[in-house]
Amino acid sequence: MIEKAEAIVLKTLNYGDTSKIITLYSKESGRLKLIAKGVRSPKSKARGLFQPTRHLQVIYYSKPGAGLQIFKAGELINGFFGLGNDFDRLTLAQVIVELLDRSVEDEAPHPELFQLLTTTLSRLADPGITAAETYWFFHLHLLRELGFRPHVEHCSLCRNPLNDGGSQGISSSHLECVNCHQSGQDSIFVSGTVLQVIQTILASRGGRCENLELSVKERRSLWAFLWRYTFYHIESTRGMRSLKVLRQLYG
Ligand SMILES: [Zn+2]
Repeated sequence: MIEKAEAIVLKTLNYGDTSKIITLYSKESGRLKLIAKGVRSPKSKARGLFQPTRHLQVIYYSKPGAGLQIFKAGELINGFFGLGNDFDRLTLAQVIVELLDRSVEDEAPHPELFQLLTTTLSRLADPGITAAETYWFFHLHLLRELGFRPHVEHCSLCRNPLNDGGSQGISSSHLECVNCHQSGQDSIFVSGTVLQVIQTILASRGGRCENLELSVKERRSLWAFLWRYTFYHIESTRGMRSLKVLRQLYG
């Protein structure tokens, strides 16, 4: 059966002498794996098409349950070329596609997630929009879409509101208040302001959350909280390669 899909390239792998295996996130079928035969040969029309983060239209032969479908033709919808000029934005875009690749497994459509992905990449490619905020919006809404919405309103033990912030232990996703938390070396403290920002982002739709007033220390704690929370709920994200570069940027 011939199928058509609109998709974002998540990753590619060279295969044989001239072929590639491409993992995509598509609007129609969710995560999709295609083999593109001969695509690395100089004569191929699709040569150079499959760069991670690119937005494409693809036509492929599909066989239900095959795992690997066969690419037939494709064209570029959006290359998000604004990313290429900015190392920070390019790094964040790479984290986004790797995070999504490791968070979803099967070919199940999730159009809201596809919309979140394309909106985020196009906002990230726009130098007029702040990059870290755009990223946080993606990460928090990805968690929400996957059923892992962080609960940052109350202490997980005594249920008191976390107005003065909360702490997260080393192997936990929950936040505890100042009175309940037994401070350990690896606890992450997240201020009340940061928790308020997380709630604001989760409550907003359409990707708009710009220039949040957070100190460097608060930004760092937001990054640390997000990743510890994500590693806890989605184990396959622990070995993400793009995180090494991200850590150099945001510590
Ligand atoms: Zn408490």
